[in-house]
Amino acid sequence: MGHDASGDAIGHPHDHAAPPSGSGRDATGLDTDGLDADGLDVTGLDAAGRRALALRAAVAAGLLDDEQPVAGLIDVTGVRDSARALRDAFATPDVPVTHTFAVKAASLVPVLRLLDDEGIGCEVASPGELALARAAGVPAERTVLDSPAKTRAELREALDLGIAVNADNEEELTRLDALLAERPSASPVGLRVNPQVGGGAIDAMSTATATSKFGVALRDPGAEERVVAAFAARPWLTRLHAHVGSQGCPLKLMAEGVRVAYELAERINDTVGRRQVGTLDIGGGLPVNFASDEVTPTYQEYADLLRGEVPGLFDGRYGIVTEFGRSLLAKHGTILARVEYAKSAGGRRIAVTHAGAQVATRTVFAPDAWPLRVLALGPEGRPKRGDPVPQDVAGPCCFAGDVLARARELPPLDEGDLIALPDTGAYYFSTHFHYNALPRPAVHGYLVADDGSVRFVTVRERQTAAEVAAESGAAHAEGLAGLR
Ligand SMILES: *Cc1c(COP(=O)(O)O)cnc(C)c1O
Repeated sequence: MGHDASGDAIGHPHDHAAPPSGSGRDATGLDTDGLDADGLDVTGLDAAGRRALALRAAVAAGLLDDEQPVAGLIDVTGVRDSARALRDAFATPDVPVTHTFAVKAASLVPVLRLLDDEGIGCEVASPGELALARAAGVPAERTVLDSPAKTRAELREALDLGIAVNADNEEELTRLDALLAERPSASPVGLRVNPQVGGGAIDAMSTATATSKFGVALRDPGAEERVVAAFAARPWLTRLHAHVGSQGCPLKLMAEGVRVAYELAERINDTVGRRQVGTLDIGGGLPVNFASDEVTPTYQEYADLLRGEVPGLFDGRYGIVTEFGRSLLAKHGTILARVEYAKSAGGRRIAVTHAGAQVATRTVFAPDAWPLRVLALGPEGRPKRGDPVPQDVAGPCCFAGDVLARARELPPLDEGDLIALPDTGAYYFSTHFHYNALPRPAVHGYLVADDGSVRFVTVRERQTAAEVAAESGAAHAEGLAGLR
């Protein structure tokens, strides 16, 4: 079946969507008695059950083909469930809470629009991310700009739009002094501080180390006094921002960072003699479990911990802004890819697939920090049977290290089989790595109905070879050769 690349937004199903069950077996492979062919009960499916149905429905709907044997899938129900869990966990009487999604975790406009539908705005860190948020229709009052390297033009645009801005450092505050003298702005402005509470298990993900590049390093000599003075001199500076960490950071460390920011806000407000700092932006960073389908830790656990460690944050004197990324999307994305060849080298089986560094960049380059589960599937997208044997699961890129999993025990994979990579909804297929001019794969959203039928919508179209050539300078083909 051909692929309809019509660019449908969420809510507009493809016409090739797998039909609901009629009589007998539908395109999802479901029998109509509420049990699928593998005896899976489709009533009240959990995320893994929905994924299982979506994988086989994706194959039946022709979402993979020779032109593009890899695609990303997003579970719309799962995203909505996580959004609700986040809202519920932080909901507190008399405390205004603004949730934003760190756009870098899934820089796809329909994802931002879906989250907006759930009341979650955007944390943006570049003009491109801001453009995505605006394309999704996210309102200014739910948009926050954080970046360590904002240009004057970026700051000007943010102030004109009235979106919140968190300055990264004292030089940026000086720039803001000049810009705000030129124009009135509705933007709430904050300052990012680095509580320097230490790092987690993954260095590249630890933002609160002593020498982190982010924010004003609070424990450096004289820094806290300078921050207090900076607030005293700028009545428009009304927020404090701290984003301590990410994957690999214990919750206790994250909460400690929030406590440091809270205590600084109290000190500033005492010093200036009024409630100048009215909002604390506590960042994101909740880690994600990549080992199973269990969601752990939960937003509720983190919010409860914060209520215990920093009770003043919830007593109604402060507004709260959050910026979660990975924890909102990771569990709800799956990469589906074809096994093009199955070979053996040095006694090791190797499945050569179409999912490699271009879609799973971190896993390939830092496999110990970012291991992924691999599901072995047959050509129809159903779980592959067979006694597990150690196999390397390799990608299509032309470098030897392009391997997703080494010596992984899986049922033997053969040519034409498929692999699925769960938990890839954040920072994977949405953050393409252009190696070997491999195209950005299509991304589809899915919704599983009560009868087990699966509807797909386009989130992002597959990139064509002509588009790859165009963005690689095709219009300037003669440029270098003609320069003599
Ligand atoms: C990346 C980032 C986030 C989101 O981090 P996650 O680990 O994806 O939740 C939030 N705030 C800032 C400032 C970030 O840089």
